[in-house]
This record gives sequence, structure tokens and C-alpha cells, in this order.
Amino acid sequence: MPAGRGLCARPAGLYLSPSAHNDEPNEIVPGEQAAMNANVLSVSAPAEAARRAKIDLAACHRLAVRFGLNEGIDNHLTLLVPGFADRFYLAPFGLHWSEVRAGEFLEVGFDGRLHGGRGPVEDTALYIHLPVHRLEPRAHCVLHTHMPYATALCMLENPRLEMAVQSALTFYDDISYDADYNGLAFSEAEGERLAHALGGKSVLMMRNHGVLVVGATVPQAFERLYFLERACQAQVLALSTGRALRPIPDAVARATVEQFHTGAAVGGLDRADLHFAALKRLLDRSEPDYAT
Ligand SMILES: [Zn+2]
Repeated sequence: MPAGRGLCARPAGLYLSPSAHNDEPNEIVPGEQAAMNANVLSVSAPAEAARRAKIDLAACHRLAVRFGLNEGIDNHLTLLVPGFADRFYLAPFGLHWSEVRAGEFLEVGFDGRLHGGRGPVEDTALYIHLPVHRLEPRAHCVLHTHMPYATALCMLENPRLEMAVQSALTFYDDISYDADYNGLAFSEAEGERLAHALGGKSVLMMRNHGVLVVGATVPQAFERLYFLERACQAQVLALSTGRALRPIPDAVARATVEQFHTGAAVGGLDRADLHFAALKRLLDRSEPDYAT
């Protein structure tokens, strides 16, 4: 990491544990941090699983930039730490997603404390991602973005992704629509509300805000994020003509969803995994530092 990035400094936004009874951040002194890291290493999942998980999550950040899904240095992409049901990887706040590296992730516990790494934790990471990870155990990977086309739909009186293009059909009956925007998510209650609004689907369209996409793995979650934005883009472009959409008949839509399911694997390999592997090869050629 280049000197002067300042991530080791005690940041103003470092998360306060809900159990803290004072206004001081959870200050982690070097000795404590070393002991903490030693503890993590001694009890964590096999190192290889953790290494691969962090590489995938770093790739996810880089690819989000490549496809224009990021906004400033905001939003978060998080992943449960392999072997743990109560802590997740989070990029230190302040990094542009184009500079996130696998070796820099923080480990944030459901207790609101850092269990690995050093750096600032931005509040909405705790107030959106922590409750979603906690309340949606299947959501190993939680992606929140303000990606432009999906967010544009969330601004409309009717934000629905219409089943009017083939790529939208992969989201048939798998999108929840949050009806209420309540300002910045600066309370755990707001994150809990969003987790409940997700309602077991893989996508939550957040009114006047953006999207939340969850998946069992980074490749599966990224696949949903990527194709959601593409389908929303097609819809916005179609609507921009001023002409009416022509929805796919429901019976055809349902039958096509079945086709998607039967064609999800090719040669015994999942399409999402194959796509993500191909995208990582792009990164390997052009910006291999993501994996370091
Ligand atoms: Zn947001």
C-alpha cells in the first residue's frame, strides 16, 4: 500500500460497537491488533479458502468499476469470511474500487468490531451489510450499488423491471421492491428493514436509492448484479424511445425461466462461475495487482 493513504490512522468514521457506552471509537493498538490477527489465523477457515474468497471479492470491486457500477468511493461489496457465520470481509473505506486488493480487506464481526485488518469502516457498511448478513444466512455475498440504470428505475413511480427482454427473465419472481426511502442508512434498524424487505429474493430495488443484490458466492452475486444492470439498461433505453414496452407473455416467461434453470450449467460448470473466471482473466492481464 502506498505510504500516506492514511488507512492506519484512527479514522473519524471507525465503527462504534453498539455495546460501547462512550463516544470513543474501537481503538485498536498495534499489540492488540497483532494478538487479534494471531487469533484469527489460529481459528479461521483454511487459509486457501480465505485467500480465494478475498481474491474473488477484490475482483468483484475491480469488475464493478470496469462496468460502471461504482459511484465515487461509496457503497460496499461484502462477503462472509469462510468458516465464519458472524464476520465479513469489507474493503477499508476511502479506497477507490479500482485500487482494492485482496490483501487489504478488513474482517468485521457481527459484534461491530474489527477482527482483522486495519482501516476505516464506513457507517452504512455496518447499518446495511451487517444486518443483511445476519438476517439472511444464505447471503454470503452482499452487494450494494447505485449503478446507474437500475437506480434510474428506482427513481420511477413504477420501478419494476418489466419482463420485456430475455435478460430480464432471469429475475422473474426474484426481485423485491422497497417502497420506502428513509434517508441515509445510519441505524441498524434501517438495515434490518431492508433485510426483511429483501424477503428471500436475490435482488432488492431500493426506492430512490439503488440496489441490493445477494448471492451464495461472489461469482453468483456478481452475475446477478451485472445482468440486472444490463436488463435495466435495456429497459431504460427502450423507454427512452417513448414507445410502449411489449411484455413477454407470462406463460413464455415461465417456460423460459425453466430453460434458464436447465441450462445453468455447461459441461458440469456453472455459467456464473465460468463468466466470473473469464472476467478475472481480463483482470489478470490488465491489473493483476487485485489478487495481491
Ligand atoms: Zn447506497
